[in-house]
Amino acid sequence: MTITPLMPVYPRCAVRPVRGEGCYLIGERGERYLDFASGIAVNLLGHGHPHLTQAIQKQAETLIHVSNLYGSPQGEHLAQRLVDSTFADTVFFTNSGAEACECAIKTARAYHQSEGGDPNRTVLITFRNAFHGRTMATISASNQEKMHKGFAPLLPGFRYVDFDDLEGAKAAIGPDVAGFLVEPVQGEGGVRPASPEFMKGLRALCDEHDLMLVLDEVQCGVARTGTLYAYEQYGIEPDIMATAKGIGGGFPMGACLATEKAARGMVVGTHGSTYGGNPLAMAAGEAVLDVVDNPEFLAHVRNMGERLRGALEQLIPNHDAIFDSVRGMGLMLGLKLKDRAENRAFVAHLRDHHGLLTVAAGENVVRILPPLVIEQAHIDEFIERLSAGARDFALPEAA
Ligand SMILES: *Cc1c(COP(=O)(O)O)cnc(C)c1O
Repeated sequence: MTITPLMPVYPRCAVRPVRGEGCYLIGERGERYLDFASGIAVNLLGHGHPHLTQAIQKQAETLIHVSNLYGSPQGEHLAQRLVDSTFADTVFFTNSGAEACECAIKTARAYHQSEGGDPNRTVLITFRNAFHGRTMATISASNQEKMHKGFAPLLPGFRYVDFDDLEGAKAAIGPDVAGFLVEPVQGEGGVRPASPEFMKGLRALCDEHDLMLVLDEVQCGVARTGTLYAYEQYGIEPDIMATAKGIGGGFPMGACLATEKAARGMVVGTHGSTYGGNPLAMAAGEAVLDVVDNPEFLAHVRNMGERLRGALEQLIPNHDAIFDSVRGMGLMLGLKLKDRAENRAFVAHLRDHHGLLTVAAGENVVRILPPLVIEQAHIDEFIERLSAGARDFALPEAA
């Protein structure tokens, strides 16, 4: 037998973390890494944050799980907080981002297939290089062939258009279209923020044609961009939104938020999840919101985001054979590399030789996703290590 006990679907690197301390990860041999990956935008309070760990401990001792057969004081409380802080009127809790997207897709279709709707409207227009998860519906929602290979047949009901192309989005609308599913800032696709014109234009098209604007804020949501959700910075509101990653601060959890109108098809018996919204998950979600849903904390994220971005911009001219440009919003930043410098090789170099964790993304971008609790000293250390990494990174010989 050669297959590993862990199904070998990930190209795992040699870092084997066993402990976390704030913005640092500690490996099996005691080596320390500055963690500017945050479990892919998940550990927004860093590692071992006392408010989060104590909330989980206390809830674990009290009540972990009961199922959705029973009333949920814990779920009602957290849902009310999310309703109070966002566009939404109602919330469905999930265990992951893909499930939050699945619920969002179902909610959009059910809107049109319920009383007053047009049941022919089943197609969601999605955008090239999008990432919505790894379930059958969410891989079908993305045009990325590397995620499709071997898993045919895909699910029907998705139409791909170029990201940030409002005219293309408009042209794709037909009598079979239910709405748009879009990341305000593409994450895996390369940390690409949509333009304000594009987001406002999609909102206007949805209003004009009675379509659902479904946002996937699984990566860019929960304070990552400096507002609780990224849509706030575009001056629009969605009808439906998927959120996950940071929302549990590391506890597996997600949610689908919707307006009352958009959720009109989601009635008793239409959807469910055994674990979704269990008391332990709700305690984690409450603890995260306690910290991040606060004007001072959000100002801290914006401030740190500006400083980090400024420091990166200053660094680029010193290493212009490797670095191209900075993109992103708040503490969701991407460092685009020159074509000659392959991002995966550079991420591995920073990790293996400079104790610095980042994440590769599409378009040859290095994703920089620090815990939102970083301070100036972490930025200084990051820039120092990144700069040292750029100095001794071996570029292939120019052809
Ligand atoms: C990570 C991600 C998902 C999928 O989340 P999982 O928890 O891995 O299922 C969906 N959408 C976006 C934008 C993501 O970044």
